[in-house]
Amino acid sequence: MSVFEHREFDGHEQVVFCHDADSGLKAIIAVHNTNRGPALGGCRMWPYADEAEALTDALRLSRGMTYKSALAGLDFGGGKSVIIGDPRKDKSDALFGAMGRFVDSLGGRYTVAEDVGISVPDVEIMERETRHVAGTRKGGAGDPSPATAYGVFMGLKAAVRHKTGRDNLRGLRVAVQGVGHVGYYLCKHLSDAGVELIVSDIAQDSLDRVVAEFDAKVVAPEAIYAVEADIFAPCALGAVINDETLPLLKAQIVAGSANNQLAEARHGEALRQRGILYAPDYVLNAGGIVLISQEGPRYDEAKAYAHVARIHDTLLEIFRRADTRRIATSEAADYLAEERFRKTRPQAA
Ligand code: NAD
Repeated sequence: MSVFEHREFDGHEQVVFCHDADSGLKAIIAVHNTNRGPALGGCRMWPYADEAEALTDALRLSRGMTYKSALAGLDFGGGKSVIIGDPRKDKSDALFGAMGRFVDSLGGRYTVAEDVGISVPDVEIMERETRHVAGTRKGGAGDPSPATAYGVFMGLKAAVRHKTGRDNLRGLRVAVQGVGHVGYYLCKHLSDAGVELIVSDIAQDSLDRVVAEFDAKVVAPEAIYAVEADIFAPCALGAVINDETLPLLKAQIVAGSANNQLAEARHGEALRQRGILYAPDYVLNAGGIVLISQEGPRYDEAKAYAHVARIHDTLLEIFRRADTRRIATSEAADYLAEERFRKTRPQAA
């Protein structure tokens, strides 16, 4: 298993393989780029089939954080960690204590937070061993989902402005796929803005809530792609823009919180060809990481939300660049991020 030659390596600065015999911890910490500042990114716990799969995930996710933080204008770089294990069976204080010590051994080059399979209490155990943690109760920001939803809402408004010239959403129809943590708060913003909501989910209680509170219309999960709507907002799963769903879409805009919405990079161009404006997911869903990045003794919620709102203008710039160069918005976003993290010189220690 080569690391330097790995197809996802992409110039990573540091990849650390962590093993602790007493707790059974096997983990990988990947630091992609620290030009803008220390790497910030969650820790994922997953029953990976093997080390190769864990390494691929760590590298891919860590690189993604560099792009996300750069476009969100944060003084952070990109990193991510993965613990090989089943979050339902393999968690222990000893395991997270050992993970915390490994994070600490990087001396602040990497700050750890929650991700899939890892909850706030798990990171708080790491916090006993290292101060390089974010997203814990001590930090003060709390659940990032409302901030993520606010960022999606601001980005969705930018997309509507760019596509139609309108500066309000009144009377538009938005199809929201997944009304969990982020989807629910997004529905609230949209409903307050006078939007008609069409929603799908596989959890009945989540549906009941948005029907009761926002008068949303429910469709079956597989029907959400083809509904007559102005905007499709994926807030559940990745890879939902693919060869099967693309021909079904009637919306003129795709703007939602889900990570990795494009099944393959070429689907960004496929959306452009169909005249559908795509708000790149990692630009739109950065609200949570913006909030977490502002944690600390001087945490100021109003300031954090003002920073999240900048997603609106960043997207407008991406849309304009994509139009000028006649490229997919997903590609324009990558270029802009690269300009921002490649130009910056490493900070003095
Ligand atoms: P969540 O688990 O609370 O909500 C997801 C919802 O999607 C659930 O209600 C689930 O029942 C539903 N769902 C699952 N399969 C579905 C299907 N086939 N059709 C329709 N609905 C389905 O998760 P979340 O925190 O709201 O995150 C939603 C998405 O946004 C995820 O892709 C996540 O990675 C991304 N995201 C979240 C945050 C955040 O702050 N929570 C930040 C960045 C990105």
